[in-house]
Amino acid sequence: MDTHQAARVDLAAAFRWFARLGMHESIANHLSVAVSADGTRFLINPCHRHFARIRASDLLLLDANDPTTLDRPEAPDPTAWYLHSRLHARLPAARCVMHLHSKWATALACLADSTMPPIDMNTARFYGRVAIDEGFAGMALSDAEGDRQADLLRDDKMVLLMANHGVLVIGASVADAFDALYYVERAAETLLTCYASGKPLRVLPDDVARLTERQWRDYGDFARDHLDNVKAILDVQEPDYRT
Ligand SMILES: [Zn+2]
Repeated sequence: MDTHQAARVDLAAAFRWFARLGMHESIANHLSVAVSADGTRFLINPCHRHFARIRASDLLLLDANDPTTLDRPEAPDPTAWYLHSRLHARLPAARCVMHLHSKWATALACLADSTMPPIDMNTARFYGRVAIDEGFAGMALSDAEGDRQADLLRDDKMVLLMANHGVLVIGASVADAFDALYYVERAAETLLTCYASGKPLRVLPDDVARLTERQWRDYGDFARDHLDNVKAILDVQEPDYRT
């Protein structure tokens, strides 16, 4: 075992919780966390392992600069490799990268207009922080795809709505990305529920949306406390996630 136990436990908790919330899809989707300062060494889920089964010790430690990674006996999922290796290498400040095909965010990414107008506190949290990747071209199986997506996450963006595909969130820690992805899904659920009503949206003014986004950033240890509460529940109900 390497020395990244705290990161392993946090990420394992995120896998287990997204599975409970039904935000995973089958044995696909991937979460990763950087463990080197330059972001090139990172932990990620093993290929085709259900989120509900993942343990801290299962996580693969990969090197974005190792061209033999996909030839290893325990190679990661190729789409996970091409996406996460390039994002961690190109965006070292994005310590954690989470990609899901969760129901509501994916549905929003499948609309012709995938923008997220600020209509409540959750949608306003992402005001100005969402990039939309319009370039779906089949499964992402090249470095160029990861590089292209890294470019879209410049300018303080933290959410990538991947049109015709799913959602990706970056964060400064596992807790930050976990909490943000949870709230992206909630925000998309509220927005699509409003759309389904057929009634006009009550869109917030720009200055109120901007203020609310800023208040979320300054909201102290909320994300950390969210993940710590999740871990406390898992410690009672399925403590093997730590092993
Ligand atoms: Zn995907």
